[in-house]
Amino acid sequence: MPDCIFCKIINGEIPSTKLYEDERSIAILDINPIALGHTLLISKTHYPTLTDMPDKELGLLAEKLPRLCRAIVKGTNSEGFNVIENNGRCSGQIIPHLHFHIIPRRANDEVRFNWSPRVFPKEEMSSVAKAITDCL
Ligand code: AMP
Ligand code: ZN
Repeated sequence: MPDCIFCKIINGEIPSTKLYEDERSIAILDINPIALGHTLLISKTHYPTLTDMPDKELGLLAEKLPRLCRAIVKGTNSEGFNVIENNGRCSGQIIPHLHFHIIPRRANDEVRFNWSPRVFPKEEMSSVAKAITDCL
């Protein structure tokens, strides 16, 4: 995709701090990290979102995560991590080229997600459960 930043990084047209590369993915440091060591695992093939990628290919990409996450935790001396994958502009996705964020975490660190638990009426919970299962 000519205008895609991640395609340009993959093609070597834009510099990046590369941590890992194989035939189907690269891992680079995020240029605007929310924690030191914030890493992006990026598919080499351009798919906008997770549901655009064929299941088997997604499996082969996702299986790279555990080794990378272990290295990030060890290398940053962290205690845990978040894996985040945004899909669509409404979800916060800025670059429509499939990628996983790996964010190293420590207790009482500065990372904050705007995650506010809510309560919905029982009927709404049942009806959304039915609506979703009907689509499976
Ligand atoms: P998302 O909102 O999930 O699309 O995330 C895109 C991420 O890409 C953001 O966290 C950006 O900081 C990061 N980013 C944008 N441009 C670059 C770049 N040239 N090199 C590394 N990371 C980048
Ligand atoms: Zn791309």
